[in-house]
Amino acid sequence: MREQTVFLAHDDTPFSTAFECKQHEAKLAGKTYICPACEGKATEHGDDIVESREDEDATAWGGQFASPVYRDVVVGHKVVPCSVCDGYGWTDHQKIPVTKQVRTGWADVQS
Ligand SMILES: [Zn+2]
Repeated sequence: MREQTVFLAHDDTPFSTAFECKQHEAKLAGKTYICPACEGKATEHGDDIVESREDEDATAWGGQFASPVYRDVVVGHKVVPCSVCDGYGWTDHQKIPVTKQVRTGWADVQS
């Protein structure tokens, strides 16, 4: 016997991976195009997570009795729902990147 993890979709169809399960549910919802921005992950990098860390080199440079020098260091990113697919991972229209002189973003492909 071995343990098996199964992901059940809304309609009780079992899938072996969360990705396939989410893809199936997206299709049920009529969203058949994978989101080009997050590639189905449904999340994107949000703001930087910044922490104040001691800069040991700079502290040492100040000598033995110097007060510690702190610098803001980016330690990661907040994870936020994807803005292109509204956190779904899939979209009901195919999206293409739009790069114009001023505006950038995503638009539906005209069929
Ligand atoms: Zn997305």
